Amino acid sequence: MALVNEYFLRLSNNYLFADIAKKVNAYKATHPKAHVISLGIGDVTRPLVPAVIEAMHKAVDEMAEKATFRGYGPERGYDFLREAIIKNDFLPRGIHLDPNEIFVNDGAKSDTGNIGDIVRWDNSVGITDPVYPVYIDSNCMIGRAGVQKDGKFSNITYMPATAENDFVPAIPDHRIDMIYLCYPNNPTGTVLTKEQLKKWVDFALKNDAIIFYDAAYEAFIREDNVPHSIYEIRGARKCAIEFHSYSKTAGFTGIRCGYTVIPKDVMATTLEGEKIPLNQLWDRRQCTKFNGTSYISQRAAEAIYTPEGKEQTKAVIDYYMGNADIMREALQQMGFEVFGGVNAPYLWVKTPNNTPSWKFFEQLLYGASIVCTPGVGFGPSGEGYVRFTAFGEREDCKEAMRRIYEWMHK
Ligand SMILES: *Cc1c(COP(=O)(O)O)cnc(C)c1O
Repeated sequence: MALVNEYFLRLSNNYLFADIAKKVNAYKATHPKAHVISLGIGDVTRPLVPAVIEAMHKAVDEMAEKATFRGYGPERGYDFLREAIIKNDFLPRGIHLDPNEIFVNDGAKSDTGNIGDIVRWDNSVGITDPVYPVYIDSNCMIGRAGVQKDGKFSNITYMPATAENDFVPAIPDHRIDMIYLCYPNNPTGTVLTKEQLKKWVDFALKNDAIIFYDAAYEAFIREDNVPHSIYEIRGARKCAIEFHSYSKTAGFTGIRCGYTVIPKDVMATTLEGEKIPLNQLWDRRQCTKFNGTSYISQRAAEAIYTPEGKEQTKAVIDYYMGNADIMREALQQMGFEVFGGVNAPYLWVKTPNNTPSWKFFEQLLYGASIVCTPGVGFGPSGEGYVRFTAFGEREDCKEAMRRIYEWMHK
C-alpha cells in the first residue's frame, strides 16, 4: 500500500489567486459592461527587450547546426553566464565570488522551495510575516513546519512586519536555525538598510543559523544605503545563501532563469559537530534532481548584461517604477497610508478604518472595478492591508487612480 506524504495535507488550502479569480469572475458575470483593471497579480506585462530577443534568436540558430548544437549543459550553468553574473552583479559592489559559488537555475521559486532539501527536517524556521508563501509551504511539505493552528505553524517563528514597527521585523529572542528574508520585500515593497540587515547577519553568525536571502527585486532598488546583495554585509559569506531571478528584472517569468549563490564558507553542522559546506551538498542535490537551465534561456540572461541589454532592461524597470510613483502619490493624496513602491514594484496600502483585507478588496472591486490583492492572503500580519502591483500598463494605473478618487468622493 502506497502511503501519501501526509505533510502535504497540512498545507493550508490557501489558493489566494484562485480565490481572487473566482470573485472577479463573479463580478464580471453580474457586471458584463465593467472594464476591470487588475492591479492584483504579480506578473510582468512588458515584452522582452530587443537585446534579449536577438540573443535568443541567435541561440536558436546555433541549435540548428551540428557544429554549434548544445545538449545537456553543465548543472551549475554555463561559464559565460556565471562569469557575467560575477562581473556585473557582484564585483562593482566589492563582492568577490568564485564561479563555483553560483548555481544557475530555472527561476528563484524552484531553488527557494528546494533549498530545504540539504538541511535537516527538524531545524527551526523563522519567516517575516506577511510573506511570499513558498518559504512556508515548502517547509511544510517536508514536515519542518510542524502543525497548523489558528493560521500559524507550530515550528515556525512568525516575525511581524507592519506599520507599527516600520516594516522592520524584530530580531527573535530565541535561537532560530533557518531564517528567510526577502528584500526588497514581496508583498510589502519595503526594504532594510545596511545597518538593519547587519543585525540579521550578526544574529545568524552568533546562532550558527543560515539566512536564505531572496533578492528577486534587487534591480528595483533606487535609494542608496539599501543593500543589493546580503554579501555587502561583512560576515554574510559565512551564513547566507542568496537567490536571484531574472523574472522581474527582465520579464523572464515565461523564459525561466535565475541563480543561487552559495559561498564555500556557508556550513551546516552534523549531530557529531562536523561542519559541512552547503555548496557541496547543493551541487550533489542539483546533479541528481536538476539537469540545467536551457541554453537559450542562459544566452537570453547573458544578453541582459551587455551595454544595450542593461539600458533596455533599465528602461522597462523605470517604466514600472514610474507606475509605482504615480500610484503612490495619487493614493497618498487621497489620504491612504502607503508603504513600499520606492525600491520595489509593489505598494502596500493600509485599508481605511482597519477594514479587513477581503472586505476592502470587494469594496474596490464593486465600487471601482479594480482588483488588488488582499494582504491577509500573505499571512496574519497582512490583515488590514492590500497590495497593488506596478507591473501594469501606465494608462491602466492612471485610470485606476481616477476611479478610486471618484469612488471615494461619491
Ligand atoms: C517573483 C518572485 C520570485 C521569482 O520567481 P521565479 O521562479 O524566478 O519566477 C522569487 N521570490 C519572490 C519573493 C518573488 O516575488
